[in-house]
Amino acid sequence: MALTFDSDVLVIGSGAAGLRLALELADHCRVAVLAKGPITEGSSLYAQGGVSAVLDPEDSIESHVADTLDAGAGLCHEDAVRFTVERGPDAVRWLIDHGVPFTREHAGDNSGEGDHFHLTREGGHSHRRVIHAADATGAAIETSLVACARAHPNIALYERHIAVDLITTAKLGLSGPNRCVGAYVLDRGHGGVDLFRARFVCITRTPSRS
Ligand SMILES: Cc1cc2nc3c(=O)[nH]c(=O)nc-3n(C[C@H](O)[C@H](O)[C@H](O)COP(=O)(O)OP(=O)(O)OC[C@H]3O[C@@H](n4cnc5c(N)ncnc54)[C@H](O)[C@@H]3O)c2cc1C
Repeated sequence: MALTFDSDVLVIGSGAAGLRLALELADHCRVAVLAKGPITEGSSLYAQGGVSAVLDPEDSIESHVADTLDAGAGLCHEDAVRFTVERGPDAVRWLIDHGVPFTREHAGDNSGEGDHFHLTREGGHSHRRVIHAADATGAAIETSLVACARAHPNIALYERHIAVDLITTAKLGLSGPNRCVGAYVLDRGHGGVDLFRARFVCITRTPSRS
């Protein structure tokens, strides 16, 4: 028998994007998060190198924007690049506040004082600006955010639940502007399609290249 689940926001995807959104919203409303497989499985878990952001006082937003546009070889929209780069430092601080164990560089005097995060430099960057957790940064981010999400009373995580179609007011034959009000979701456990109703639906999965 099909089950019905209600939330304020349905987030499709439990990678870094989906969990970031869920944790941001959950202090204000009830959030349901779907993953098509195990909750941690996805690109986020496998990212290795790290996250680039302007974290060194000698680095600058302008330099990061210029490097990104250069590496993008004309394919990047400058406004999107600037939007992302400007928010990078705050996004990294948010991850740190949520327990991501980024690798630290020690001052060398065993005092623990003056320790700071180790930054690497990767191709296309003119400064050291890649913060990382050894060589398994994505795993550190994903497992930290999953732990925060599991501990949050307003977040319900549904693993092995595949969104197969969106529910819209037009499909339901309702009048007024067409709105998305949920999703039909295949529960790989019992093999049936359940109804996830929500006031808002957000798709965060990485787009397929095919
Ligand atoms: C090997 C590798 C190395 C990388 N290295 C780096 C790096 O060093 N630095 C960097 O910045 N980026 C790196 N990336 C890119 C980075 O990992 C991704 O851009 C980022 O993790 C995307 O996060 P996401 O939350 O959008 O997607 P994902 O983490 O892929 O999450 C997608 C989620 O959507 C769910 N989902 C998909 N379809 C459905 C559906 N129909 N129903 C329900 N759920 C669904 C999945 O189950 C999953 O939970 C790397 C990627 C890979 C693969």
